Amino acid sequence: MYRLMLDELRYHNGDLPVNSKINRRALVQGAGVLGLSALMGARANALGRSLPPFPTATEMYGWAADVVEITNRYKDYRRSGTPGDAAVRQYIVEKLQSFGIPIVENQEYEFASHIYEEWALEVEGEDIPCFFWRDSAFTDKQGLTAPLVYVGSKIPRDGSLAGKIAVLDVLPGAIHTGQLTAISDYMHDPAGFFTEPKSLPAPNLSTNMPAAFYEAHAEGAVGMIGVLDFLTGTNKFYPDVGLAVRDLMPALMLGKFDGGALKERLTRAGNSLDGKIVLRGRDEKRARSGNVVGTLPGVTDEVLIINTHHDGCFSSAVEDASGIASVLALAKFYGSYVPDLRVRTLVFDFEGNHWSWDYPMGSRIFARQNPDVIDKTIAVFGIEHIAREMKVVDGKYVDAGHPSPSILFAPNDPEFKQFAIEAVKKNNLDYTFIPRFGGEDIMIPAQTRWFHLQGLPVYQFITGPEYLYLEDDTLDKIDRERFVTVNRTFIDLIERFQYIPYRRSREF
Ligand SMILES: [Zn+2]
Repeated sequence: MYRLMLDELRYHNGDLPVNSKINRRALVQGAGVLGLSALMGARANALGRSLPPFPTATEMYGWAADVVEITNRYKDYRRSGTPGDAAVRQYIVEKLQSFGIPIVENQEYEFASHIYEEWALEVEGEDIPCFFWRDSAFTDKQGLTAPLVYVGSKIPRDGSLAGKIAVLDVLPGAIHTGQLTAISDYMHDPAGFFTEPKSLPAPNLSTNMPAAFYEAHAEGAVGMIGVLDFLTGTNKFYPDVGLAVRDLMPALMLGKFDGGALKERLTRAGNSLDGKIVLRGRDEKRARSGNVVGTLPGVTDEVLIINTHHDGCFSSAVEDASGIASVLALAKFYGSYVPDLRVRTLVFDFEGNHWSWDYPMGSRIFARQNPDVIDKTIAVFGIEHIAREMKVVDGKYVDAGHPSPSILFAPNDPEFKQFAIEAVKKNNLDYTFIPRFGGEDIMIPAQTRWFHLQGLPVYQFITGPEYLYLEDDTLDKIDRERFVTVNRTFIDLIERFQYIPYRRSREF
């Protein structure tokens, strides 16, 4: 009844200002004690209690730096199922507890993990620097020796690859700003970044992979070497499911310059050199990871989920130590919020296994382990990748002078979408576009995708800088000041959903 009155008031009053402690305070007193007329006449300062302090950029950056520091102690970083994964989960547990979140669980689960321990490419007795292609097959101890054939960017369909190792130019994925403006409902873009025609990286996509891997296998190839196109020359690339392959044959990655040199050698030798691939590791049938879940009860048991993923492929400062820090900041803020003004129960959900095939595995397991939470969920808020845009100068990433272009996914509903537009404008979250319906279905690389597909209202902030899945994703790539802008935008969105009736969240 109490809740219903609040909901009705919210609706009959029309547009309750976002993030207004005053109005909510007034609503509580109005509904509970003073009655509607007192509510309407209430003056802000007379009734307001102060909000807890907003987390600062320094705090958030510090937490991301902690995560990176812990990660760098481990050889396999914080990839799912590794000791670094467990250590970072423990860090998140302790942080949530220190913020006064009363229920903090490390909800562990088992999964099958494929771990690479040794990888090498030898041509004419010389070792060529390389990296494993994620989820491709292991070789035996002796390795796989076969003729190397440079095929350019396309797999020949003439049987010539039978028994050979294909050397392929991997074409990077790209998205044009014109495609983004075409699917945009709203852009907050004072600098005009999106209106200038240009190509942006799509770090988990390629225009010829993984299709070329399967074509080569179908043509009888026994292995593949992909030459990457990053201008830094790196081969340290650990893509998500968008570019992982099945374990049909071994595959390696070479950096642009090492790959260029190999292609030249092959051309000189008339495509008649042998290569030896060694790719060793182990399958762990019962690897362990987990979702860290902090629950902060509200006045009602209806839930707002605030979500990100905690695993990472290298140091992975942006991907996704920055998301961890953002969600920790929201936990700290709401942990010190006046309890009776926190209408909804907040569930802070740090998920694992972002890189798994049944993407995003962490969300599915969260739903399975917390069916009562899903039943009561009103909306889901996801934050990933608070990033600077970088460009390559003299073989190194340098700051491009602005944030990485960002997407804020919002539910396909005029009112819910308007919340996003208003929050973005109010907080000046620039370099950001909000896609229209249909745009939501390109939410492939975002951790809230599963919730979106269940039909729940989802807001998701995400960026996709080129270095996202590279070893180059280091702390200097985090957009420190943008932490605050994104955080306040999400506080505004969360505040809007303190008052949305449950039925409305199932009706949009
Ligand atoms: Zn991420």
